[in-house]
Amino acid sequence: MKIETKCLHEGYRAENGQPLALPIYQSTTYRYSSPDEITKLFDLGPGHMYSRISNPTVEQVEKKLAALEGGVAALCVSSGQSASFLSIVNILSAGDHFIASSKIYGGTFNLFAVTLKRFGIDCTFVDQDADIDELNKAIRPNTKAVFAEIIANPAIAVLDIEKFAKFAHSNGLPLIVDNTFPTPVLCRPIEYGADIVIHSTTKYLDGHAVQLGGVVIDSGNFDWKDFPSLTLPDESYHGLIYTEHFGKAAYVAKMRVQLVRDLGNYQTAMGAFLLDLGIQTLGVRMERHCKNAATVADELSKNDKIELVNYPTLAGNPYKTLADKYLPNGCSGVMSFNIKGTRERAVKFMEGLKLANNVVHVADVRTCVLHPASSTHRQLSDEQLVGAGISPGMIRLSVGIEDVSDILEDLLGSLSKI
Ligand code: PLP
Repeated sequence: MKIETKCLHEGYRAENGQPLALPIYQSTTYRYSSPDEITKLFDLGPGHMYSRISNPTVEQVEKKLAALEGGVAALCVSSGQSASFLSIVNILSAGDHFIASSKIYGGTFNLFAVTLKRFGIDCTFVDQDADIDELNKAIRPNTKAVFAEIIANPAIAVLDIEKFAKFAHSNGLPLIVDNTFPTPVLCRPIEYGADIVIHSTTKYLDGHAVQLGGVVIDSGNFDWKDFPSLTLPDESYHGLIYTEHFGKAAYVAKMRVQLVRDLGNYQTAMGAFLLDLGIQTLGVRMERHCKNAATVADELSKNDKIELVNYPTLAGNPYKTLADKYLPNGCSGVMSFNIKGTRERAVKFMEGLKLANNVVHVADVRTCVLHPASSTHRQLSDEQLVGAGISPGMIRLSVGIEDVSDILEDLLGSLSKI
């Protein structure tokens, strides 16, 4: 099946006489005929025991997401933040270190720079455009992972996935990537060497601003031999060795039965159902987002009130070559641009918009705008803002699937009034 078909038909498939739509199993727990049956579940036999660990509705969406990314297993959690957090703490403990691109979503930056530091996990932020020799300077004896975003939010920088995979693997490290903006419709990072893929499913995968969620997908390709938390007995699971019991799916299995069990951040059945509805139309939505965004980027770049339009398909964009390679079918609907002049002019432009929504959200069917320096990236210092590729006057525009002439009329109309 092609990716658009998989968006509809992977995961749940109705058998003879069953409901066509994915059923919502709105139950916290599952009934068994004897305590013995329940003991088998605690010994990790097949079946569901409690919806903090697994649920039949969520399970079908996990299967769909694993298939879309070309992975062996997936785990749906309560937010993209949860997915980022779990992707690191699943294999790092206090005293460990990891490397992340500095051009990442502000919430992830805070999580890595501040909160994980309080847990004793250190992160070094690097320039993702540096060459491997330069990147190697950040490696320490206790480095355990490398993290980056495929299209960085909101810098709209495209990651050289193969370079990062080479950098990580030559140091014996897994490459974890956030593929939220491209979605598997535009890029499947595992094909280029990524080991773990995460998403904020709150964005395009859902697409309609109705579900908050995240997912962690395991490629099954990384050899965890130097990661004792996966290869040595887990005392919190009566001596279970994850790599022995779960083979290629050890990373996600450990995350589920140990971390999500303990932290309680699993996706809900209703959340998974809404997410699945969104994924069904992902193929057509991404095509339209990309087409609209390319037209809007072209028009904005011709406007004399705009200083810079940051969209990788534009001629002269520093990421065009990488976008042509990794994102041949388009770069999603997200772009950023700077309005010439003061920050106040940028605010006036945003106030003048009638169709585009001022919201703390992105990657939605409706066109949305945001001022990152005063919102999502407000906690960052000026120096950190520069590292993240954000200027104080930058506006992030998430082009929706409306008729593109209506989007342009709104944007150009407001620009004409400033
Ligand atoms: N990753 C990226 C690229 C994001 O844009 C976001 C949120 O905007 C997140 C992760 C965090 O996701 P969530 O808001 O679902 O926690």
